[in-house]
Amino acid sequence: MGRHAVTLIPGDGVGPEICEASVRVLEATGVQFDWDVQQAGENVMERYGTPLPEHVLDSIRRTQVALKGPITTPVGTGFRSVNVALRQELELYACVRPVKAYAGARNLREGLDFVIVRENSEDIYAGIEFEKGTADCERLIQEISTLSRKRIRPDSGLSIKPISVSGSERIVQFAFDYARENGRKKVTLVHKANIMKHTDGLFLAVGREVATRNPDVAFEDRIVDNMCMQLVLRPSEYDVLCCPNLYGDIISDLGAGMIGGLGLAPGANIGTNGAVFEATHGSAPKYAGKNRVNPMAVMLSGVLMLRHLGEIPAADSLESAIAAVIEDGSAVTYDLKPSRDDPGAVGTSEVADAVVDRLKARD
Ligand code: NAD
Repeated sequence: MGRHAVTLIPGDGVGPEICEASVRVLEATGVQFDWDVQQAGENVMERYGTPLPEHVLDSIRRTQVALKGPITTPVGTGFRSVNVALRQELELYACVRPVKAYAGARNLREGLDFVIVRENSEDIYAGIEFEKGTADCERLIQEISTLSRKRIRPDSGLSIKPISVSGSERIVQFAFDYARENGRKKVTLVHKANIMKHTDGLFLAVGREVATRNPDVAFEDRIVDNMCMQLVLRPSEYDVLCCPNLYGDIISDLGAGMIGGLGLAPGANIGTNGAVFEATHGSAPKYAGKNRVNPMAVMLSGVLMLRHLGEIPAADSLESAIAAVIEDGSAVTYDLKPSRDDPGAVGTSEVADAVVDRLKARD
């Protein structure tokens, strides 16, 4: 295959060091990249007046693919999360988070292998909120009390949960397409339709309809609370989980915990105008510049990116090299050790060295 133009957003906090480690292992696969390095976040605010300058979005619109480090969202500055803005601006409506147990990691069970497909654009996450005591909130409470016989206490705040037919249709179809393209056999739709009939109920009804158009992949549904218990008791029965935004967020962290923590949890945000690959974890500011945190979640996001680019043999060999380093256990960061202060833990860049050595040993 030819060279791939990819936007690289190093991010802040631990972002630059884990991205540097990931670029090194991606290049060691032999795949050729033209990295378009773009800065976003707090450090570009002063220069461009926004944490997400238009030229960063333009770069992703051009390359259609980005590898991204985490970006800090300062609390209480009125500065919108770059991560959320990026998903909205590029309509990255599907978040894909594989949960895979690698031998040697601190797994809850061995053999775990399922994928969470989370709807990224609507649900209670849409950011439509009304603060307690404000005129708008009071007006809405009044309006709702005339439209519905249910009473809302006047000292309430409100968050709105929109779920649409079109938004549900595209995420469920995405889950079926993902299953088909990745050799997976079943889609399980997650909901709470017994309680929220007009939002989760709609999601379920649309899901059942989409399933009739995809008869080659099995379909079932689970109520979200039962889903959590099932994942702990019988995870091997699940394959692709298709979730509305909030349940997908919560189940993703449950999944990360089942495979040894955030250091091994990769992710992809995919939409009609591009795909952004990034770890589930944040910028871990207290470790910034210390060469301590695990770069494997970004490296494994890089594996997802290679698959997205059609570089399947390179994706397989990078994933095997990372798995071999985890299993060997001598060149891993503190989070993969039994104790956080294990003197045998290595740093971020030494993990990259070990993965590169494994890749070279295969050549
Ligand atoms: P965090 O994920 O950054 O870190 C929480 C803790 O998890 C860390 O202190 C560390 O102990 C551990 N950890 C995280 N990543 C690790 C790794 N790779 N290796 C080893 N240990 C790791 O969560 P937070 O502290 O809640 O968030 C920090 C900042 O990151 C916030 O500003 C938040 O908004 C932002 N954030 C960004 C993204 C993103 O860019 N997509 C995602 C989540 C959070």
